[in-house]
Amino acid sequence: MSEAYDVIVVGGGPAGTACAKVLVGEGLKTLVLERKRLPRNKCCSGILFSNGKELVEEIFGEIPERCLAGTVTDTLAFIDENRQAVPYPFGLDKPVPKRPMQQVWRKEFDYWLIEKSGAEVMDGLACNSITEERGKVKIGTTNGSVLKCDYVVGADGGDSRVRRILFPELEERIKCQWAYQVYYTIWDIELDMAYYYAFMLPSLQGFHGGLGMKENVLCLCVHGGKGKKPMKAMEEFRVYLQEHAGLSVGVPIRKEATRFNPMAAKGITVLGSGNILLAGEAGGLTNLNVEGITPAIRSGAIAGKAIMMANASCVDAEEIYVGEVRNVVNDCLMSWNVEGKEV
Ligand SMILES: Cc1cc2nc3c(=O)[nH]c(=O)nc-3n(C[C@H](O)[C@H](O)[C@H](O)COP(=O)(O)OP(=O)(O)OC[C@H]3O[C@@H](n4cnc5c(N)ncnc54)[C@H](O)[C@@H]3O)c2cc1C
Repeated sequence: MSEAYDVIVVGGGPAGTACAKVLVGEGLKTLVLERKRLPRNKCCSGILFSNGKELVEEIFGEIPERCLAGTVTDTLAFIDENRQAVPYPFGLDKPVPKRPMQQVWRKEFDYWLIEKSGAEVMDGLACNSITEERGKVKIGTTNGSVLKCDYVVGADGGDSRVRRILFPELEERIKCQWAYQVYYTIWDIELDMAYYYAFMLPSLQGFHGGLGMKENVLCLCVHGGKGKKPMKAMEEFRVYLQEHAGLSVGVPIRKEATRFNPMAAKGITVLGSGNILLAGEAGGLTNLNVEGITPAIRSGAIAGKAIMMANASCVDAEEIYVGEVRNVVNDCLMSWNVEGKEV
């Protein structure tokens, strides 16, 4: 049995690193356990929507140049075959701010976040079990080691292992979806690439498409659920764009895939149990269209603060967290235009 930590944060994405930054800042012995070797890639458009950039700067400082990937003016969604575009967030009657939104390269950005957190990091090592014994939480890992701590923060993304351990009965209801992205440096298209485009068209069966430019790199994205294979969807999307928007592309320079979980679209969020909290996408905290970096950072930082407050009182961390993170939860649910459901 290795030495004990105050807090083990499972997952080194925006939620986990924001949480770790707060905890380390308050002097808690904090470990970030990350399944992948770092720096790791993350299948994501990397747009810092709404106040995301300001929030990052407030918690972590100025974002270094190497993480930045140009800006997009807005997101336009095509929702019918006549290419009628509606601005994001579509379906809401709020005015949409027309200002450039910063994009980041997730590999560089997330690595910078983790470095800035100041936490001890174990990468290439996943959490695969959680048990509680005499007030301590024990985390079993993929190399057979067992780590001990007072609190766990599950910040392990949409397909969260921590959530599945805590709430196994929930998984059938919230079903993960797949996403697949392909990047090109040689490309041409008859669209104004100042925008990010979402294609939610009846003719694209079993999936939605997305299209954006990061610096000079074109990124095509497809996402969907069961019934469609990601690579087949990507080929259908490419052909659609070729026929309808004059797309031509060279050889892809990178391909990436992930599983994600638009739980909030169904009105479901989960925040943890006792000394084990869930932050970011693990807890279902994403805004409309799975915009998740900002709510991940907000909820991760709040989870860290809730642990500090629990340490200084005799109130459960979960109880404090549920109260403190309420605005983030409400913002997420309202953006999908749904009511929250008790789980
Ligand atoms: C195609 C696509 C495009 C998107 N575009 C945008 C966008 O433009 N803007 C935006 O704001 N959001 C976007 N999102 C959403 C955004 O990527 C996520 O919501 C955000 O990354 C969530 O942050 P997180 O820290 O909660 O989880 P993640 O960033 O997913 O980080 C979780 C980490 O946990 C690790 N992990 C997983 N399991 C374990 C385990 N058992 N043990 C240890 N570590 C583990 C993972 O390796 C990962 O590093 C997009 C999502 C998709 C799928």
